[in-house]
Amino acid sequence: MAKFIPEHIISEIQSSVDIVDVVSEVVILKKAGRNYFGLCPFHSDKDPSFSVSPEKRIFHCFGCGTGGDVFTFLMKLNGYSFPEAARILAARCGVRIPEQSLTPAQKRLIDEKTRLFKLNAMAADFFHHSLLNGVSGKNAMTYLNRRGFSEDIITRFKIGFAPEGWDNLLSFFYKKKAPLNYVEQAGLVVANKQGNGYYDRFRNRIMFPITNIAGSIIGFGGRVTDESLPKYLNTPETPVYNKSRSLYGIDAAKTKCRTNETVLIVEGYLDFLALYQAGSENTVATLGTALTNEHVRMLRGCIGANGKAILVYDSDLAGIKAAERSIAVFDRGHIDARILVLPAGHDPDSYIRKHGRDSFMRGADKAKNIIDFLTDMAVKKYGHSVEGKLRVLDAMIGPLSAIDDINKKSLYRKELAERLDIDESAILHKVRDRNGKKNDTRSWVSENGAMISASNGSGGYTDGETETAKAKFERRLIAMMLQFPAIIPEIENRRLPYFFENNLLKTLGNTILKYYADSEGHVAELLNGIQDERLRAMATSLAIDDRTWRYEDCLKLINQFESGIKYPEKNLSRKIKEAAAKGDDVKVIQLLAEKQKYVRNKAKKKCVRRR
Ligand SMILES: [Zn+2]
Repeated sequence: MAKFIPEHIISEIQSSVDIVDVVSEVVILKKAGRNYFGLCPFHSDKDPSFSVSPEKRIFHCFGCGTGGDVFTFLMKLNGYSFPEAARILAARCGVRIPEQSLTPAQKRLIDEKTRLFKLNAMAADFFHHSLLNGVSGKNAMTYLNRRGFSEDIITRFKIGFAPEGWDNLLSFFYKKKAPLNYVEQAGLVVANKQGNGYYDRFRNRIMFPITNIAGSIIGFGGRVTDESLPKYLNTPETPVYNKSRSLYGIDAAKTKCRTNETVLIVEGYLDFLALYQAGSENTVATLGTALTNEHVRMLRGCIGANGKAILVYDSDLAGIKAAERSIAVFDRGHIDARILVLPAGHDPDSYIRKHGRDSFMRGADKAKNIIDFLTDMAVKKYGHSVEGKLRVLDAMIGPLSAIDDINKKSLYRKELAERLDIDESAILHKVRDRNGKKNDTRSWVSENGAMISASNGSGGYTDGETETAKAKFERRLIAMMLQFPAIIPEIENRRLPYFFENNLLKTLGNTILKYYADSEGHVAELLNGIQDERLRAMATSLAIDDRTWRYEDCLKLINQFESGIKYPEKNLSRKIKEAAAKGDDVKVIQLLAEKQKYVRNKAKKKCVRRR
């Protein structure tokens, strides 16, 4: 995480800044016990579920699960990168971040990026000026006016025009004495075949500057105003531009996304601008690519864990394709995704102009979730005959298999069964077949429909899965380790995490042990060092509780856990009950003998310990 700033400086910042102070600037906090509580700024919170611990220097929301240290808070709130958040906090508490701490390679990378941002900003100014003042920009301006875009929106998004000709931008940079190899690196000019010069990449196109979430221009999209091809031309991949990590309008949309907990996702620049101008500022556009995990992660940071994403498409076919492609990414990102297909012949722009924004928003509010939408489409296509139902079922197995969340999956399965009026087990078998083919060891569906995670290393509980009593116990132990580090040596001695059944908690337990073995650091630092987002969220939620631990109580808990490992009496008692219920007397006697043996052994061990 802390790529460019040395660890000790980060620790210094963290211990000098009061997290309560920082959070108080945006959240009204009230003290209760050792922690502070308030309304969460990351989701629309009705009860104060947002908690800040000044001692542990962390925050956690029990409503949406967002949590972390003071750096994370600023990053999530303002979309800052880690170094940005660190710089702001450093300035606040007077800690100096030494420049010389950067390795030459790191410094080169920062310089390179800063340079590209600057060249892009210069190019954006040039294009914008050409649109507003150039003779050649007149047609482009007429086009934009005809599409109904106001001067405000054109200025707000610095829309521009790349004039016809091979060297307009090139001469501009030449005059500015910008090194042309860097201008080429920014993707703005292209080296000619002879290798002795460059030419403009964007010619006779309306130019849309693309920014990152912090507002720096990372690239451009260029659109023709006539029928020439390609219709759209984007900046190629550069050190600052990667289309699978970029969304048009994200910087402008982030605030409204946060307050509305909803984001509209459209396909093009003009759709975006039309919606934004009509007042739907919580809109972003993809840049000619399917939604990626990175996109969804970025959007989730804006809309929060309970947020909703609405994909807007202009035809059933485009909608179906997008829906099928994006189920898995939305599912992995835990985002409630919906889809809105506009009536035939309409895009968002034309729809809003004809029917108004209110009508559009009503449609968006009623947008169906992806699975319902796909079911509708399949039923529409194949009908209700027996043959048709089978085909619908076939069409829906892929989408259902793409969902990992067991509760969601089971719900959809039930719905589909009801809707097609078929037996749910038929769907269950089909999904199981598909999942079996997809990944043999990863997961399977048990008879009662619950997803069981196989031990493949990363296995743990999928959200919503019922936690076993054992896992609950393990969770309590982890909470204890995080809240009362004095107990760590005892845990270490007895190698407790080794006996954990839940893989996620086991990993977490070992991470904590490893951390305290290497340093005497602070819990916020430990949490910061956990790379896996899910693991970190879990750790933060366990760490924030402000209960007071006493050493003796901790020992009791540890002993209780150990005895559970070595003397599985409970298990035996359950088996005995089961056997008795079945009337299997032989088994009952056998199990009773086993239990007695355990109890005797345990008593012996206790005697040894006391001596
Ligand atoms: Zn929250």
